[in-house]
Amino acid sequence: MEYKVIRSKRKTVSMKLGSDGQAVVRAPLYMRDAEIARFVERHSGWLEKQLARRVPPVRFADGDRTEICGRSLTVVSAKRACIAEDTLFLPAEGREKALVSLLRKIAGERMKRLLDRYSREGGFSYRGLKITSARTRWGSCNSDGGIAFSFRTAFLPDALAEYLAVHELSHTLRMDHSAAFWKIVAQYIPDYKSRRKALKGYHWAMECL
Ligand SMILES: [Zn+2]
Repeated sequence: MEYKVIRSKRKTVSMKLGSDGQAVVRAPLYMRDAEIARFVERHSGWLEKQLARRVPPVRFADGDRTEICGRSLTVVSAKRACIAEDTLFLPAEGREKALVSLLRKIAGERMKRLLDRYSREGGFSYRGLKITSARTRWGSCNSDGGIAFSFRTAFLPDALAEYLAVHELSHTLRMDHSAAFWKIVAQYIPDYKSRRKALKGYHWAMECL
């Protein structure tokens, strides 16, 4: 395991994960290397956990790659925000704002289409769709049947957006997450468990922008 050692006039040894993903050990001036290595070894489990949890910051600079609706896109500067083939065009100025409004539009259109499709298929009825900036949840449904989705759902592939649409529509019948609720979801998305799991891989979409 690689790590950087910073010695100073301190009495104790500590370790943390730097923003670049490298472990940094702070140690007293005269602590022996072998002793530091033993300390790192003892805490290697902790460090691995921190590394696994670490989400690389997502940027939208020219040449960066990102994924929208399951499509892999390369960012290129342009006058206005749009997607064409495998390119995400974004303006140089006000880039993030332009991207957010593009994602809002994409999320709104797709989630509306999915809600309407599953409403027809399943006889669900919902009252209005709102696109939010939520970072902590992909979607929600209130007791009046109003459904909301984060614009961040635009980053997800179709299969996961479908699962989210069915999940929130199922709440128009049951507001809980009981076995009966999951039975409704499973009628339309039999593999909902693996789709739920796959959502965890898109945590970055909650943290960017
Ligand atoms: Zn729910």
